[in-house]
Amino acid sequence: MSAPEDAASTAAAWGTAPLPQGAWLGVLGGGQLGRMFCQAAQTLGYRVAVLDPAESCPAGMVADEHVRAAYDDVAGLDRLAQRCAAVTTEFENVPADSLRHLARTRTMAPSGDAVAVAQDRLAEKSYIQAAGVPVAPHAAIGSMADVEGCPDALFPGILKTVRLGYDGKGQVRVASRDEARQAFGTLRGVPCVLEALQPLEDEISVVVARDLRGRAVSYPPSRNTHRDGILALSIVDGAVASDIADQARGYALSLADHLDYQGVLCVEFFVLSDGRVMANEMAPRPHNSGHYTQDGCLISQFEQQARIMVGLPLGGTDLLRPTAMLNLLGDVWFDAQGRQREPDWAGLLAVPGTRLHLYAKSEARRARKMGHVNVLADDAAQLRERIARVSAVLGLPDV
Ligand code: ATP
Ligand code: MG
Repeated sequence: MSAPEDAASTAAAWGTAPLPQGAWLGVLGGGQLGRMFCQAAQTLGYRVAVLDPAESCPAGMVADEHVRAAYDDVAGLDRLAQRCAAVTTEFENVPADSLRHLARTRTMAPSGDAVAVAQDRLAEKSYIQAAGVPVAPHAAIGSMADVEGCPDALFPGILKTVRLGYDGKGQVRVASRDEARQAFGTLRGVPCVLEALQPLEDEISVVVARDLRGRAVSYPPSRNTHRDGILALSIVDGAVASDIADQARGYALSLADHLDYQGVLCVEFFVLSDGRVMANEMAPRPHNSGHYTQDGCLISQFEQQARIMVGLPLGGTDLLRPTAMLNLLGDVWFDAQGRQREPDWAGLLAVPGTRLHLYAKSEARRARKMGHVNVLADDAAQLRERIARVSAVLGLPDV
């Protein structure tokens, strides 16, 4: 088939032609997720403008243009809209009204309404349940009276702020009602949700990409290990039982459908010791646990995000080889005596199957996400062995 026919058949399949090469895409937020989105969109021949208030930021460094403005600055948003045919976001705490403003004149994926749901743990849980997906037993805690009145069955539990929690921040484990009283006081009485503590066998997450017409694909679930509340390791090696993997992927797709979601969505799940799968929370954007798709799959979560925005077909999500993602926090830049050092990149990359992704952040701070390394192998045992070698080179604790 000749090239013009290719283009014509694609346009016919989609109803409208994809955005032409060289068109501009916008992203709200200049962090590492925005940076990797820029790189994926640029690989497809598009140009990217990043809106972020910081003078210098990981995405701003690689974007074709950096619009320096606050996320609620209408003039800044309008400058982005003037340039860009389609806009996305790289973090969920951007004001939903900014997305609604952009959606008046531009393709906005995801929508402000979908992002607003993800910003509010209570709204999120009710949408998840309405989509037919189980969640942990929970209650809204808006006042001390709610602490007194909530069911005994929620203890031991976790008290989480309804808004602005991330990396385990804004949550307190409470063994009893008395501890919940204290914790609610410590959180200064902001609206919270109390969740019953679940017996976790595993934590898995599924990335879904859903296009503007409602067609959707899901990636194989990653098994996630956290350290100090921050994702440390994601492994995708076929170890998740296929019935559990299918259930999680089905749940994530149902939730995306129910929200009429457009864009890339990540859903985190708990797998309980009795084999049940329940959703924990969702992120309306590419997710740290989906970084394995950059090397473990033909099409990464970031390229899907770009394809959705421009109207290109969604790409394949099959796992090519067993893959793991190890997060590189700023801690790796410090030796046992607390002195700053450059990590041994040569030693790391001498381990077969490794690929390094750094975000070019100027200052290494403890607990700050600085980069990640993807590790590929032929089978699960070789993957384990390579993860151990990478961890030894970087001085990462065993997980
Ligand atoms: P992030 O944004 O980094 O994913 P977060 O701060 O939004 O995290 P959650 O994902 O809600 O917080 O919880 C962090 C971790 O705490 C979970 O990954 C899980 O290990 C544990 N956790 C949370 N809720 C429960 C629960 N109900 N039962 C058991 N463990 C839980
Ligand atoms: Mg989480």
